[in-house]
Amino acid sequence: MAPGTVQLNIFAWNQKLTKYVKEGQPEKTMQLFQQMQQEGISPNEFTFVPVINACAGLGALEDGRLVHEQLIQSGCKFDVFVGNSLVDMYAKCGSIEDAWRVFNRMPSRDVVTWNAMILGQVKCGQGQKALELFQEMEQEGVWPNAVTFMAVLNACASVVSLQEGRCVHEKVIQSGCESDIFVGTSLVDMYAKCGSIEDAQRVFNKMPSRNVVTWTAIILGYVKCGQGQKALDLFQEMKQEGVHPNAFTFVAVLNACASLVALEDGRCAHEQIIQSGCESDVFVGSSLVDMYAKCGSIEDAWRVFNKMPCRDVVTWTAMILGHVKCQQAQKALELFRQMQWEGVWPNSVTFVGVLNACASVVALEEGRCAHEQIIERGWDSDVFVGSSLVDMYAKCGSMEDAWKVFNKMRSRDVVTWTAILGGCAMHGHGKDALQHFERMCEEGVEPNDVTFVCLLSACSHAGLVDEGMHCYTSMITDYMISAQLEHYTCMVDLLGRAGHLQEAENMIMAMPCEPHVAPWMALLGACRIHGNVEMGERVAKQILELDPENSAGYVLLSNIYAAAGNMHLSENVEQQRKERGVKKQPGRTWIEVNNEVHTFVVDDQDHPQMIEIRAELQRLSGLMHDAGYVPDTNFVLHDVEEEEKLFHLCHHSEKLAIALGLINTPPGTPLRIRKNLRVCEDCHTSAKFISKVVGRAIMLRDVNRFHHFEDGICSCMGYW
Ligand SMILES: [Zn+2]
Ligand SMILES: [Zn+2]
Repeated sequence: MAPGTVQLNIFAWNQKLTKYVKEGQPEKTMQLFQQMQQEGISPNEFTFVPVINACAGLGALEDGRLVHEQLIQSGCKFDVFVGNSLVDMYAKCGSIEDAWRVFNRMPSRDVVTWNAMILGQVKCGQGQKALELFQEMEQEGVWPNAVTFMAVLNACASVVSLQEGRCVHEKVIQSGCESDIFVGTSLVDMYAKCGSIEDAQRVFNKMPSRNVVTWTAIILGYVKCGQGQKALDLFQEMKQEGVHPNAFTFVAVLNACASLVALEDGRCAHEQIIQSGCESDVFVGSSLVDMYAKCGSIEDAWRVFNKMPCRDVVTWTAMILGHVKCQQAQKALELFRQMQWEGVWPNSVTFVGVLNACASVVALEEGRCAHEQIIERGWDSDVFVGSSLVDMYAKCGSMEDAWKVFNKMRSRDVVTWTAILGGCAMHGHGKDALQHFERMCEEGVEPNDVTFVCLLSACSHAGLVDEGMHCYTSMITDYMISAQLEHYTCMVDLLGRAGHLQEAENMIMAMPCEPHVAPWMALLGACRIHGNVEMGERVAKQILELDPENSAGYVLLSNIYAAAGNMHLSENVEQQRKERGVKKQPGRTWIEVNNEVHTFVVDDQDHPQMIEIRAELQRLSGLMHDAGYVPDTNFVLHDVEEEEKLFHLCHHSEKLAIALGLINTPPGTPLRIRKNLRVCEDCHTSAKFISKVVGRAIMLRDVNRFHHFEDGICSCMGYW
């Protein structure tokens, strides 16, 4: 072959290679490169650039390295053009070290070289390094272009540096790039991510034209700063201007709907998603599941979930959190198991959801399993996960484990402290709570309103009236936290339990916030404890005026009459309740036995071990009778015969759960039980007797607090 022919040939090859890369077909470029070498044609410097670019496009680091070696061996000229493509390839393939090596060896660099390096640093999450490079570049006298600005603005957004962002913005204005749509969009995005939505809006308004990315950036900005409605308004505007939303826009809009609990807007967006064909996108699908779950429509969440062609950890986590939120903890735990069978790895948010689920049904063993997995992944030092662990152990009745996790945590925030204080409150460890509150303040952690709710209820559950009053005053005067409904409720509870009924009532009357049943209910409970029928009647009237559907109000009032021996009035109240069609909230109890959570309702017949449970209750009732137990039938339905009352009393859901626990665990094993309502007087007394006659510790968490029954005594000492 004549030398001239070869020359012509390689020129044609190179042209073809370049054409494929420019058309976005890097695979074809690589194939052609192989073919060319098989045909014995040695590449020249114009061959290498498109081939290296193709490696960059494919993210093929190993191929890229091989081509780089070939380039060195070929002895081709190493000019800025070749160098740029190498830096770009290494940066895009994620090997920033290799990119640096080439960059440092380049005899001269232009703006493209710097851009590639800066982008590479942003890509591998080193925004600060990218900003330093930008400075160096300016010092070397290289002028930034639009691509540089986009990269640097991304870097500012990633390190959330509003100050740096503003500096770059000034340079953008000086360079005249501000009207560039891509630079403008990066500015909007930077301001939105750095938390200055006002600046984002200002840039947005000045832009001569905007694309879907611009709109999405500003919509996301409003979602992020908690202005969901503004985000939805902008979405409408965007469509009116004829800009078509993409998958990212829909994700932002769905987040806005979720934050606003706007189910109808969410459904509207869903329809548009179906029309646009984005529904099968895993990112969009997960946001749909999340939106429906957060808006409380778990059925819709399931419908989307079942239709999704593939699901990732975000999808599963949204489902798990959704079920936790609508109090279907067992379903949430089931989903967690299913997710792992399907080979999807949980992330830290998944675990937080799982721990919440365990806490809500007192699934201590399941919680421990999750804890082990968390340790394996090294997430137990994460403050978010750690706080959830503390909360889970406290709510599952093991303050010992809660303290262990708490003490091991390297950093603790207000959520962690509040979790442990909440645990102290639930277990009636009032003194502990006060001590640790002091420690928390010494460590410089600022308490919030929730911390004080925990602290006040800790005082209330331990009968520490003076200390509680002191905390309340300190909250208002020292911490400038104004009292809200929850604080008033705690204070009414604290005063009422201690017998200061009149002061408690005065406190409610003086409340500046909207009237609410919660503090009245606390006072009614106190009226029951102290047998104050006259005030009880008055309080119950208030409750039923505020909420005529409040079944607990009827039940408590009827109990007050019954306790005062006035069965006639007690039955009247029950009668009224029925006439008005107010249904009692069904009592429900959970118990975890051998890693499985069982649920019971009153008179439950569905459990497979029902015959054994009945037999066990029969046996217990004999033992308790011998120990001096007398059933208290005042708290059962009032329209049944005495004998039948006894039967119902024996079949309250907490008793069924205790019996199940006793027959399925070895002697001496403590039982952990969760009740969705306040435990009834008779179940409370029975649990005391049972703990004594069978020699078991029983930990029962009702809606208010924990009761530790041991050897015939309850830890609550009557404060419940
Ligand atoms: Zn009961
Ligand atoms: Zn108790």
